[in-house]
This record gives sequence, C-alpha cells and structure tokens, in this order.
Amino acid sequence: SRPSYKWQRVLLKVSGEALAGDNMQNIDPKITMAIAREVASVTRLGIEVAIVVGGGNIFRGSSWAGSSGLDRSSADYIGMLATVMNAIFLQATMESIGIPTRVQTAFRMSEVAEPYIRRRAVRHLEKGRVVIFAAGTGNPFFTTDTAAALRCAEINAEVVLKATNVDGVYDDDPRCNPNARLLETLTYHEVTSKDLSVMDMTAITLCQENNIPANLASGDTSPSPEKSPDESPVRRWTTA
Ligand code: UDP
Repeated sequence: SRPSYKWQRVLLKVSGEALAGDNMQNIDPKITMAIAREVASVTRLGIEVAIVVGGGNIFRGSSWAGSSGLDRSSADYIGMLATVMNAIFLQATMESIGIPTRVQTAFRMSEVAEPYIRRRAVRHLEKGRVVIFAAGTGNPFFTTDTAAALRCAEINAEVVLKATNVDGVYDDDPRCNPNARLLETLTYHEVTSKDLSVMDMTAITLCQENNIPANLASGDTSPSPEKSPDESPVRRWTTA
C-alpha cells in the first residue's frame, strides 16, 4: 500500500501572470519548466494533479472590453482562447519531461485538445495523467479562478492551490504598501468582508459553499536550487 498524503487529488490554478515571470515575452519557458518539474515530483508520489490555467499574461477580457467596439463577451472569448495557448505550452513542457498530460477545453477545439468531459478527466487522473483544463468555464463574464473552483468541485479534488506572483495573502497590496501584513490563515468570510482580492468573489463563494479549502502558493517558481521545496510559502485558508 502506498503512503497516504494530506491530499490525493489537487487542483492547481496557474495564473497567466505566473507564467510570464520577469520575461518580457508572454510566457517564460523557465517558469513552465519549473512548474512541470514540481508537478512531476508530486505525481511521482501518486498524487493526482489537475490544472486550470489562466490567460492574463496574454489577454484579459475586462481590460480590453470597450476598446475599438469590442464587447465584453467577445473580449472574454479572446481571453479564453489565451488560456488555451498557455495550456498547450504547459502540456508540451510537461510531456517533454515525460509527464503524460491531457488538455481539455471548456468549448470544443477538437483538433487541438479534448473537450471537457468530467468522467473522462477523472479517468485520466486515475491513470496518473495530468489534466489541464483550458478555456476557463467556457462562459464570458467568468474568470479562471472560478473555473478552478468549479472544476475542483466537479472532479472531487480536495483543495485549490493557487500559484500566483505573490507569496501569500496580505491585508493590503504589498507592491504599494510596504507595511502590508501577510495573513497566514483566513476564513472565506474574512476574504469577502475585507474584500481581499486574492481570488474573485465568485470563486471564493463557490469554494465556501462546497467546503473547498484554497491555498495560495508563491509563483516564485524560478529554479533556485538553494531553496528547498519545504520553504516554499503556502498559506492556508480555513473554510471555517
Ligand atoms: N475568461 C472568461 N471565462 C472564464 C475564464 C476566463 O471569459 O470562465 C476570460 C476572461 O476574459 C479573462 C481571461 O479569460 O480575463 C483570462 O483568464 P483570467 O483573467 O482568469 O486569467 P489569470 O488572471 O489567471 O491569468
């Protein structure tokens, strides 16, 4: 029998910004490789990993809506397509180091990836494949954070792990306020009442209603051999 870990199936949310790193390009291959290596080390333990990728490094619907007559829905569809680009890049990187990976899109792009089929996604995970969910929820006006919460609930993953470009949840924006305090543990109520913009509210309430804990992990995935994985900051929010 294999050892049991805290989680058997996790949903990793990789935001677009995390993929960009410090690179002036939209995607930094060093980052995708670092993510692939971390995922490999987790799947080797027998833990199942599903990923929801964002697209903010390429296109964010809300910032483009309105320009040149672009309506919000069209802008959001472009945003969803951006997540597919990231998903394919990440898949290629993972497979280059031998991690079997499937991409499933929320709307059909059959030549490029499988359509999202819940039971099939679960089957892939059971077989030790990583599943990357792309195109968010498939609906405009949503975000990939919400897609992460939704897919997590659907596939019965135990936790949403959000990889982003901050090292935790602060009580204010640490990039603007040097006195911003790092919060170790938060309840969903605190997140919503203090309007902490760590994940969008739709995602937070979906997690809350389904008792899904969310952890925020630093997007500092730059390969740094001197740093042991145990030191990587992961902040836990309780679902109390
Ligand atoms: N998007 C959408 N519906 C979804 C998920 C994403 O319309 O269910 C669009 C939206 O325009 C969003 C873009 O895709 O701005 C990229 O996703 P997101 O901003 O969530 O990416 P991240 O912030 O994680 O990089």
